[in-house]
Amino acid sequence: MKTRVVRVDPVHPAPGALREAGEVLRGGGLVAFPTETVYGLGADALNPAAVRRIFAAKGRPGDNPLIIHVADRESLAGLVKEVPEAARALMDRFWPGPLTLVLPKAELVPDEVTAGLATVAVRMPNHRVALGLIAAAGVPVAAPSANRSGRPSPTTAAHVWEDLGGRVEFILDAGPTGVGVESTVVDLTGPRPVVLRPGGLALEDLRQVAGEVTVDPALLGREVDRPRSPGLKYTHYAPKAPLTLIEPGPGVAPQVVGEAAWRAVREVLAASPHKPVGLLFLRENLPRHREAASATATAFLLAELNQDAGAPPATVLALEAGPATDPAQVASRLFAALRWFDAAGVAAIVAEGISPEGLGFAVMNRLRKAAGAVVRV
Ligand code: AMP
Ligand code: MG
Repeated sequence: MKTRVVRVDPVHPAPGALREAGEVLRGGGLVAFPTETVYGLGADALNPAAVRRIFAAKGRPGDNPLIIHVADRESLAGLVKEVPEAARALMDRFWPGPLTLVLPKAELVPDEVTAGLATVAVRMPNHRVALGLIAAAGVPVAAPSANRSGRPSPTTAAHVWEDLGGRVEFILDAGPTGVGVESTVVDLTGPRPVVLRPGGLALEDLRQVAGEVTVDPALLGREVDRPRSPGLKYTHYAPKAPLTLIEPGPGVAPQVVGEAAWRAVREVLAASPHKPVGLLFLRENLPRHREAASATATAFLLAELNQDAGAPPATVLALEAGPATDPAQVASRLFAALRWFDAAGVAAIVAEGISPEGLGFAVMNRLRKAAGAVVRV
């Protein structure tokens, strides 16, 4: 299949491009589009055949339900059975935005979207291109992240092309997304809100409006037989190279994380001297890594996301994640960094973790899912 890629301005997208992409959706086709979180892969949510094509293009397991995206609250009427008061308050405060609500589903919603569940996940994205596309299509848009299943979510159109070029009709390219991690998913079908997936809306913000909010036990590292969000049971966000996560305990300083990361890097170098090793480091640790490298005569290359990947063997290929004090910045760079290390052909990745506060909760959730090994410090 030929994939058409059209660049649009993120703030003032050309109406012609949105109309064209909207027609593809109405005709049962697949359109990848930017949201404020990550790029989504959209299909007409009320067309079962179109929705099935999303699963085929992504290689997504059929029992992992999709989020339906709307451009206005009126469109919810046909999708959910009822909008409880708690949901209304959350929408008032956080829509459009990175918050997905799980509500009892209306008859109209095909089982393909919800994987047969009695509930449906809905969200209004905070991106002019996404909202314009949904409005132009005139239908609700089912859209998971626009990556092949198991790969890190795409934060640029180039990432989408890498995974889905030739598998979808249309890609709207509006440059890099802002938030960088997927939406926060909250189940509102019980007596109190339950976070099923941490994401672009911080738990602290959610609690300001929703009061007592619980967190699905699966997110706290406890093993559960049947996670309530089916997506949670799949490995996700995994780069091709094995990733070791350095996870700080409460109050542990970035420097301590950096020391453990450097030890892990040295171990990888000793085991695989014929490839570079990737280090995703916290800004606070750059001076100490440079010093440690020179003290041990280790080749150290400070790389940048927007440069071409690549380095000689036995080099520490270091990418800055952002400051430990700015989890939003770390979130926005995370998936791009994982893909960048893959392109560089590193033997392994060592990632310095942050405290699970604010967007740090989502960052650490994604890193844990990507990690083959976790070192707690
Ligand atoms: P993605 O769009 O790829 O970011 O994935 C959507 C996430 O929302 C997955 O983790 C799904 O399991 C979750 N999800 C979608 N619909 C529901 C639902 N009805 N109940 C619980 N979780 C859902
Ligand atoms: Mg996804």
